[in-house]
Formats: sequence, structure tokens, C-alpha cells
Amino acid sequence: MSADHDFAAVRYAMTSENGLYRFTFFCALCGRGHTSGLIHANSVEIALHLARQEARGYFNGCHTCGRWVCDGCYNMDVMTCARCAGHYLLQGGLSDGE
Ligand SMILES: [Zn+2]
Ligand SMILES: [Zn+2]
Repeated sequence: MSADHDFAAVRYAMTSENGLYRFTFFCALCGRGHTSGLIHANSVEIALHLARQEARGYFNGCHTCGRWVCDGCYNMDVMTCARCAGHYLLQGGLSDGE
């Protein structure tokens, strides 16, 4: 297993209401967000840590460029984001020319 790319790099937005935190994490390609439940924690850092652990399950790390993308932007066959998968398809998909 290669080391995971850092999920901390994922863009997110935070809201807090009455001492509860809520985070939305965004797909690096389509920008679709995954919003966590309300999190009760003593600090923003802890809340963010918990939110990331939950949100991780909804994203996929591209093995080529390291972006974290949603299921719709992930190509399971080659374990990369759709953008990188496009490169693979261009390189290896049409081999009969020339
Ligand atoms: Zn996406
Ligand atoms: Zn990629």
C-alpha cells in the first residue's frame, strides 16, 4: 500500500451553531460537497479531525495526482480521478493507429 495522500488538503467549509460544528468537504473535480453531521467537540481542531475521518469514506484518493474526488469523479478500474483516467484512456485506449 502506498501512503495515503493527505486528506487534510481537501477544500472544506465550516459552519458552527451553538457550539456544534458542521463541515462540508468538496470534490476536487466537480466541486460537489459532502456535509458532515453536527459535531460536538471542545475545539475546532478536534471537530475538523472527526469530520475528516467521517468524510474520508465518501471520497477517493487519486493514485496519480493525489486529488480527493467523489465517487462520480473516480474511475475504479485505474484507481484515479476521472481527469487522470482520461489520460490513461488516451494513451492506452486507441492502440491501432500508426
Ligand atoms: Zn466529483
Ligand atoms: Zn488524478
